[in-house]
Amino acid sequence: MYILLNGKFKQKNEVSIDFEDRGYQFGDGVYEVIRVYNGSYFAMKEHMERFVRSAKEIKIVLQNTAEELTAMLNELLRKNQVQDGAVYMQITRGVTGRKHLFPGQDVKPQIVAYPIPCSKPAAEQEKGIKLHLMEDVRWLRCDIKSLNLLGNVLAKQEAFENGAYEALLHRGEHITEGSSSNFYGVRNGVIYTHPANNLILNGITRMKVVELCEKNGLTLIEEMIKADDLVNLDEAFITSTTSEVIPVIEIDSMKVNGGVPGPVTRELQRLFEEMID
Ligand code: PMP
Repeated sequence: MYILLNGKFKQKNEVSIDFEDRGYQFGDGVYEVIRVYNGSYFAMKEHMERFVRSAKEIKIVLQNTAEELTAMLNELLRKNQVQDGAVYMQITRGVTGRKHLFPGQDVKPQIVAYPIPCSKPAAEQEKGIKLHLMEDVRWLRCDIKSLNLLGNVLAKQEAFENGAYEALLHRGEHITEGSSSNFYGVRNGVIYTHPANNLILNGITRMKVVELCEKNGLTLIEEMIKADDLVNLDEAFITSTTSEVIPVIEIDSMKVNGGVPGPVTRELQRLFEEMID
């Protein structure tokens, strides 16, 4: 497998990461996961824009333009002959002695990118999944795709230990998102999802779902859902790069739509499938 390390392609066994990398010590960096379908990236432009924005928000100065990075990622796909899967890319603030303050200009950010296996979660997409509700204890800049994923990791693990596929996070009385996905509720044919502000990651799949709704006459409103109103939902679903659109049929012990995927969710799954074809 070829790995892209700071603009150079290397074999996996030629790559080593310094233990004083700030990504390793502080989680001081940002990342992207980009889906590959039929040998091409899906929504590369949107992923690259989000990557550039995330880096800017944490004041990492990229050494390459978005165009240069895109060209390198295309070459990475070609070299590895990826057909279906995903590419993981991360940048950290660089390697230096362990101090909180940013290092000087001489310390360069470290970028690494490599293919990761990824396939459709077909069973979950077909049958639907269970979510486990819990308090969102993450920081207040969830819009940045930060390497600091401790809040997300703990939430996913707790969900798993409660027999759920994904966590459903609430901050006080409002639902925010999943540990690695965006959440949507459907009521009287209208789709509701948290506004794209600092409390959630504006998912690329979420952007595509918003677009699909606009193009196909489905009503989607970016409005917070109250945890107390989950009982009134007709349908629910989550989205992410790796999950695509997955129906939610249970939230803890509560069934959604009698425990089967609903028609609006099915329609969005169909539209999404059509788009990636
Ligand atoms: N929210 C969080 C917290 C995530 O980690 C992810 C997955 N990266 C998403 C939402 C979904 O984003 P995307 O559709 O870009 O994968």
